[in-house]
Amino acid sequence: MAFDALARAELPVSAEPSFASIPFLDLKAQFGDIRDELLDAVTRVLESQHFILGPEVDALEREVAEYVGVGFAIGCASGSDALLLAQMAIGIESEDEVITSPFTFGATAGSIARLKARPVFVDIHPDTFNFDERQLEAAITSRSRAIMPVHLFGLPANMDDVLEIARKHHLAVIEDAAQAIGARWKEKGIGSLGTCGCFSFFPSKNLGGAGDGGMITTNDPQLAQRLRILRVHGARKKYRYELLGINSRLDALQAAILRVKLQYLDNWTEGRRRNAETYRELFAEYHLTEQMALPCAPETSFHVYNQFSIRAPRRDELQGYLRDRGIPTEVYYPSPLHVEPAFAYLGHRIGDFPNAEAACREVLSLPIYPELTLDQQRAVVATISRFYQRGP
Ligand SMILES: *Cc1c(COP(=O)(O)O)cnc(C)c1O
Repeated sequence: MAFDALARAELPVSAEPSFASIPFLDLKAQFGDIRDELLDAVTRVLESQHFILGPEVDALEREVAEYVGVGFAIGCASGSDALLLAQMAIGIESEDEVITSPFTFGATAGSIARLKARPVFVDIHPDTFNFDERQLEAAITSRSRAIMPVHLFGLPANMDDVLEIARKHHLAVIEDAAQAIGARWKEKGIGSLGTCGCFSFFPSKNLGGAGDGGMITTNDPQLAQRLRILRVHGARKKYRYELLGINSRLDALQAAILRVKLQYLDNWTEGRRRNAETYRELFAEYHLTEQMALPCAPETSFHVYNQFSIRAPRRDELQGYLRDRGIPTEVYYPSPLHVEPAFAYLGHRIGDFPNAEAACREVLSLPIYPELTLDQQRAVVATISRFYQRGP
């Protein structure tokens, strides 16, 4: 309670905040707003004593399919499993190549490598942080099977180009939409454009559960059928193993909680987008837009701002300065995947993807959650401004 009160305290406009006043993400505030509905949903599941898949999961699958604009949605245990299951259903095998970004969460490339397929990286676009579609074709070989665009931070990848190149080379498209539920590319829901869309309900995503959860979306009824079998050990009927599957199911408790939250998602997204606009105005007001790059928001895209990630000179120093003044930030991501030990066998070295490497040195994500107040945002930007005024 005390933490909550502190977290929501509004700062005077001119004050130098000197205590932990702003959380990076305020899930307690979100819970406070919908507490009764969530408790009802949890109680409903406990009274039913039906915990694995079942009617709550069926209902959430229908609701997410409609929300994203696809024929089918299949719940599973996490976003990482969604990526894995999508590739299993499509038939990605050892020696196949899947083209993706090196500037992403480990599970993107990890899911490819887990199937003994090869992650093939394409460098990112410095403005969007998404892979540079102009470099895609050069990465295609006779072993290429799929392209895996990541809609990083909630900004859609250039799906026109991805889909055209995929069609031309007969490749599947697996959208890593973990950070982008509700985002749109030219009015089409992210997760509805590729062969499959993969979503995560990790608590810090825009639609977060009370633990792990994930979902795969598709318009292909056969793929949907395979996904439903693969998530339950490959068995359509109990103990009749048609496919080599895994155990990756969505819990009824998670589904019931997510069904409540899904009804608020568009409101929360509007809050994130409003806060992004406020940051843009504040950065301009404080004359910071010359020094740092703000997230780009192309007209083709409806950005859902899972993160508001800026590029900041002297990033690490700035992060420490903000931390000391009660303003938490995060670095997504400190290192590109091609130099991580788990991917050393791919034989890459520093310098292979310079844009991704530069992003890792410069990127800084600021609090952007919907409950953030104007005064809190002003405190963030004012403190950044003071840091740069001090000089190096
Ligand atoms: C969160 C995330 C995942 C994995 O989702 P989990 O539910 O945590 O397994 C995959 N890709 C990206 C880009 C993510 O942000």
